[in-house]
Amino acid sequence: MRTLIAGKWIVGWNGKSHTLIPNGVVVFEGQRVLYVGQSFEGRVDKRIDAAGKLVCPGFIDTHVHSGHRASHRLISDTGRPLYFGQPFLEISVPKEGKTVSGDPRYLKPGDKELNAALELNATFTTVELLRNGVTTFVEFGSNISVQKALLEQLKRLGTRAYLGPGYDCGRWVGDSKGRLRRILDPEGGLRGLKQAVEFIREHDGACDGRVKGILVPREVETSTIELLEQTLLHADKLRVPMATHAAYSVLEFHDIVREHLMTPIELLHKIGMLRPTLNIGHGNFIAEGPNLNYSGGHDLQLMGHAGCSISHCPINIARRGRILNDWKSYRDAGVNISIGSDTYPRDMIMNMRTASLMGKIVGQDYFKAPASEVFEAATVGGARSLGRDDLGRLQEGSLADIVIIDFQGRNSLRYGPVRDPIKSLVECGVGDDVDTVIVDGRICMERGVIPDVDVSRLAADAQAAGEAIWSTLQDWDPCGRTAEQASPWSFPLASAG
Ligand SMILES: [Zn+2]
Repeated sequence: MRTLIAGKWIVGWNGKSHTLIPNGVVVFEGQRVLYVGQSFEGRVDKRIDAAGKLVCPGFIDTHVHSGHRASHRLISDTGRPLYFGQPFLEISVPKEGKTVSGDPRYLKPGDKELNAALELNATFTTVELLRNGVTTFVEFGSNISVQKALLEQLKRLGTRAYLGPGYDCGRWVGDSKGRLRRILDPEGGLRGLKQAVEFIREHDGACDGRVKGILVPREVETSTIELLEQTLLHADKLRVPMATHAAYSVLEFHDIVREHLMTPIELLHKIGMLRPTLNIGHGNFIAEGPNLNYSGGHDLQLMGHAGCSISHCPINIARRGRILNDWKSYRDAGVNISIGSDTYPRDMIMNMRTASLMGKIVGQDYFKAPASEVFEAATVGGARSLGRDDLGRLQEGSLADIVIIDFQGRNSLRYGPVRDPIKSLVECGVGDDVDTVIVDGRICMERGVIPDVDVSRLAADAQAAGEAIWSTLQDWDPCGRTAEQASPWSFPLASAG
């Protein structure tokens, strides 16, 4: 079937960069784009009227941790300074012998609520991403049950994703003072890698090619050199991309320097992992960073020379008082910047705006991190990190992953007069402005409606799951705090009566 979309603005591709086509059309047939331009004279079977709207490539979210992220709500505007803002140390490290209650990533097979929780988390993640115009996402290292649950939802909802169970050589536990201790398990890391390789062998190319594999040793500091070397070996054999958290935390930076006498980026360089298809999450604590007081570093040069990719998650790091220092230096060095959400909200448009504003503020220069560059990062930047030249752009032959964005949806006046659609989108847009999403030539969401998904039910289920996590914090928090103690209300609760 051949479908034509006629829009007020089309974002095309000239071989080097996006282009803006006023009053243009996109035609796709099967999985692929057939034509992008001013007008199309050939036969079409279906027409989609996007008058007044923007038609652009689907977004690529390169940093997704599956789930509703309810535990992360406990660290809004609060936390413990001893972790230097690192979110997962705040709310994902349970008391020794306990698990984070209500989160299926920490439940063991056999737990009776496991399957329902897995399904809810996978559905919530996939639907939230779809609702926000994300047509491809990268899951960043959740366990195999989470990956399998996502696979089911991808089959049903039609999104494209890179999956692979994450692995590491140990986990953190906390004592009653909040002190961290790592339980080391180098053999467990190698077993995890083996499981990931088997998962990828079985599922790479599933769902007509929408599902691809990725190898994710979760963090550099929880991986042995052997595990990273083996990961590289298998990535080459399987021809898959890799992702890992590196240069992402003050503690991790110091751990690696102490143990290996080099920075996390130097370590990845030494192993030979730096390459365009290595997605470094978040890559913002590098040797040149002014906050680390590290002398003589040249991480940016190493990253740029290798053309490696970072998943920059601007909302997530800004919320913890962190920055990328800075956007333009990374671009100038040759680093490929992609954008990830990491946690809530999985809103690529808000993330683009935050990346742009952060780039200007940190660089003290309003020419930095312009709308064009953050839009490129959210589309082709993500595609490059996956080694794909058929995603993140609309041109003849590329995959038909297309979003339509409505500047006036729900009677919004937020955009005001629109002159340049990309600048307007980055400055004024939110994910809910996404009107229609097409993945692989199939309409997955039309005018905000995703077939067979009850969004209000999903929201209610996620709320209930969140309440369960918050109300049981004292059982698994290393310091035994209640939610109120860990995360005081923004204003005092009014007393009843
Ligand atoms: Zn992450």
